[in-house]
Amino acid sequence: MVAIELVVASGKGGVGKSTISGSLAVLLAKDGFKLVTADADAEEPNLHIVLGVDKWDRVEDYHEGRTAYILQEKCTKCNICAEVCPFGAVEVVNGNYVINEYICEGCVTCSMACPVKAIRYRFNVVAGHIRFVKATRYGFPLVSGESIPGRPNSGKLVTEVKNRAKALLGTEGILLLDAAAGIGCQVISSLTGAQFALLVVEPTKASLNDLKRVHKLTKHFMIASMIVINKYDINPDMVEEIKVYAKKENVPIIGKIPFDESVPRSINMRKPVVEAFPDNPVSRELRRIVDFIEKEILGNWKLWYSRHRPKKPEPYIPVIIRPDRG
Ligand code: SF4
Ligand code: SF4
Repeated sequence: MVAIELVVASGKGGVGKSTISGSLAVLLAKDGFKLVTADADAEEPNLHIVLGVDKWDRVEDYHEGRTAYILQEKCTKCNICAEVCPFGAVEVVNGNYVINEYICEGCVTCSMACPVKAIRYRFNVVAGHIRFVKATRYGFPLVSGESIPGRPNSGKLVTEVKNRAKALLGTEGILLLDAAAGIGCQVISSLTGAQFALLVVEPTKASLNDLKRVHKLTKHFMIASMIVINKYDINPDMVEEIKVYAKKENVPIIGKIPFDESVPRSINMRKPVVEAFPDNPVSRELRRIVDFIEKEILGNWKLWYSRHRPKKPEPYIPVIIRPDRG
């Protein structure tokens, strides 16, 4: 077996991505597959909660970017920096002008404008943390990113998390990534270089719309996608709409998980649902999904990839928001 990257993603948050990731990881590990899990949602990491991690074996600082600070002995308190800062990061504390490092984006507007050159920069500030568990209680490692609120570039932090997880995995096994919701830079970092994406959707208009957006991204990266519908039984009409989209796009629906109150209960117990309630309908469907992944995808990944990868890359057109110039 080679090293395979499987990203669990969804265009929308709160659709059960981490619950599903945790359960897939536990079942794959129990079946003897070598794997490393990575929580690539640096702004809201929660895979460690699902996996019942209480303590990190190692926590490393992640450095990135720059923040401004003011040399008080040079500052003439002219207020220009406060006027020009586009992020409102300049504050007056006890009569002194100071820069709130949690808000500052390091854009250099203030230092260009300061008439007495009183503004300097700190480079490589701590922008987040990379946390490691050598072996969760289910035996496999977890690497988890956590960005510091207000610090930029969580996408680069996710790339670093992924690189660390890949280094732990080595040349064979499964890298199971729990991506952030949406289609932002964290998700782009998670998808870059992956072969497979499991897209989680709920049967609602909003979730289907967001699924289409994240699927567009997976097509851009030439990733073979598959769909799991969570809580499929709450809206049968929308399930039909999802099926129509999946058929048109040649994306197989590999699982339909029913709604079940036991899922939030398992999260409160800090256990994947397949561990907390192994015999309930949700866990049985997750077991079936893992059997399918093991047989059809891991069993012959090249064949599956050639059948389900996009025919050509989807062009990626970033949305550029320009200021209204009246
Ligand atoms: S622009 Fe320069 S001198 Fe004026 S308040 Fe800011 S730091 Fe002080
Ligand atoms: S560097 Fe940019 S964001 Fe930071 S204080 Fe100066 S103007 Fe504001």
